[in-house]
Amino acid sequence: MPISEAIPSGTLAFYSAFDDFETWKRALQAQLPNLKVIHSSEITDPADIHYVLAWKPPENFFAGMTNLRLIINLGAGVDSLVKRQDLPPGIPITRLTDPQMSRMMAGYVLFAVLRHARDIPYFEQAQRRGEWTYRHPRSPEETRVAVLGLGQLGAKAAHELQRQGFRVLGWSRSPAQIEGVECHAGLDTLDTVLEQADILVVMLPLTPQTAGILDRTRLERLPRGAVLINVARGALVDQAALTELLQNGHLGGATLDVFEREPLPAGDPLWSMPNVLITPHLASVAIPSSAATQIAENIMRVSAGQAPENIIDPARGY
Ligand code: NDP
Repeated sequence: MPISEAIPSGTLAFYSAFDDFETWKRALQAQLPNLKVIHSSEITDPADIHYVLAWKPPENFFAGMTNLRLIINLGAGVDSLVKRQDLPPGIPITRLTDPQMSRMMAGYVLFAVLRHARDIPYFEQAQRRGEWTYRHPRSPEETRVAVLGLGQLGAKAAHELQRQGFRVLGWSRSPAQIEGVECHAGLDTLDTVLEQADILVVMLPLTPQTAGILDRTRLERLPRGAVLINVARGALVDQAALTELLQNGHLGGATLDVFEREPLPAGDPLWSMPNVLITPHLASVAIPSSAATQIAENIMRVSAGQAPENIIDPARGY
């Protein structure tokens, strides 16, 4: 059946501790008026649920959902979802790939890179001392920025950075091509990329292959004074080693949106380090009005007996 002929009905259950249910409900029903959208707390019989849109649902969430057709991860990172034991087998899982989400992430990365490349932390500290300290700006071409992960978010960020004139290196699992970006692929090339990175931007998914990928040895490969920006997942980086390298001056600074433990515990040394900027995991979020279009498209595809787009591979982990 063509997608346009499918008028999806059925019930979608929503769960997120961070996102507003009513906003999502309105956005989804504007696209699919026949779809019943309920909050998971309203489920009476799990067998009535056909679609799930959820971010980090509680344990046993999927129990009894015998008529489930599609799981939509309310976000880009699926690491917490794919490691669950209670995922119903054979049900496709999709993630959000909203262009506005990529734009918001690219905006954060651009801000963080420019902040370091323009020595803003240095001027912030001088201002606190009441000092007018001139430091001549470098041109962006003199700064090498490496982006690890060239997916939906990483590719957009790399593109925006090269548009600003930075020398951008990219790294991914399979070979990528991005205009103006020197792309490298595979673990064999990682050290070469790290050795050239004045600013390292981490945009990898957390998978069994990438967990702890930036261990002490790899962090030490970064040039002295390099800056690390992590907007992906805290567990990609050895946080204790990172802290020590920031303290001993091997690393010049960091902008961290994600941590091994979130919230970052009170008293963690990172909180009080003058060369570290901390934000509470919000580099990018899903925007209901634009993401609903992609969700509706996938629900229509599934209703028409077709495979959804942006499907993830639980075995690969992203
Ligand atoms: P994608 O799945 O679209 O892309 C992942 C990229 O990483 C691809 O280029 C992939 O390579 C590469 N990659 C995966 N595994 C490896 C590996 N073993 N070695 C080398 N490269 C690898 O992810 P997104 O760009 O959409 O998102 C990246 C991450 O950002 C998410 O997984 C999530 O954790 C995080 N995130 C953080 C947010 C925040 O607010 N802080 C918000 C949203 C997401 P290939 O192209 O070859 O497949």
